[in-house]
Amino acid sequence: MVTQRNTSSHRIDEAVSLLSKEKLDPRPVSWSDERLLVTQRNPPSKIIAKLEETGIVQRLVVPSHVAQLASREFQNEKSVVRVGTAEIGARKIVVIAGPCSVERWDQLLEAARAAKRAGASLLRGGVFKPRTSPYEFQGLGEPGLRLLAKASGETGLPVVTEILEPGKVKLVAKYADMFQIGARNAQNFSLLKAVGKSRKPVLLKRGMMMTIDEWLQAAEYILLEGNPNVVLCERGIRTFEKATRNTLDLAAVAVLRRQTHLPVLVDPSHATGSRDLVAPMAKAAVAAGADGLMIETHPSPESALSDPHQQLNLEEFGKLMEELDPVAKAVGRAIR
Ligand code: PEP
Ligand code: MN
Repeated sequence: MVTQRNTSSHRIDEAVSLLSKEKLDPRPVSWSDERLLVTQRNPPSKIIAKLEETGIVQRLVVPSHVAQLASREFQNEKSVVRVGTAEIGARKIVVIAGPCSVERWDQLLEAARAAKRAGASLLRGGVFKPRTSPYEFQGLGEPGLRLLAKASGETGLPVVTEILEPGKVKLVAKYADMFQIGARNAQNFSLLKAVGKSRKPVLLKRGMMMTIDEWLQAAEYILLEGNPNVVLCERGIRTFEKATRNTLDLAAVAVLRRQTHLPVLVDPSHATGSRDLVAPMAKAAVAAGADGLMIETHPSPESALSDPHQQLNLEEFGKLMEELDPVAKAVGRAIR
């Protein structure tokens, strides 16, 4: 329920107590300049009638699916999430490029400059790395965050980086423009709530075992804290197929367009795990209606400390951006 703009806190409290008596677990949420009351289930008609009598109801939303705040019933118009100078969900395809891991200053700066030159809108780079093996490179930690902020200053590109624990929200927020929740943490509900409490944009990747409905419900955890700046990122799911690292579910892009107003990106790097498959899947993603791409790039991928097989070298990335241009135009979008 969206409340009338002039509703006093006292009237909201009355509505909360009415809904609580019905065990609807009402949650007041500040949503941009509006105040919402979100309930666990749709209230019965007699309660709706009572609320309408009080005159505080501006709009009642009855979602038909698992999502409430992410649903198209709540907001039909597509969301545009602003990250620094980038607008995710607008006409321009937003490309996020940069290394899997921040390793050294010269490596990051070279990748950042190439990203900027080729027309990318954001710089990526992991500093807290969720590695499968504890014996693999775990990331530079805070010194890596400082390098990201410096590279952002040099190029003007806003930065996105993965956060692994709720206790690091303040630290990461100090240096980055956008939080990334990785596939392995996509259902870490305390982490989702923690980034929801911040108002910084969040890139929520799809968990490797998550259905689209579960993914949308993970997004609800962030939105319900009052952070409307959520962007979804399809990065492939686990299936029986072994030829690719994961199975890229491009139909998810079209399904999400039907179900949510949130912008949707595609990460063909982690989805395929293989350098030569990144370009064809990036083009397919743009054709399918993705609002942008996340692509791993490295000045010398063969020597990368993580994901050496899937990162594009800087020349390959520049070439891919050229090739994406006509694909974007064909679907009414633009790459630059
Ligand atoms: C990443 O983008 O750095 C990453 C680890 O991806 P994912 O969470 O999709 O595996
Ligand atoms: Mn990676």
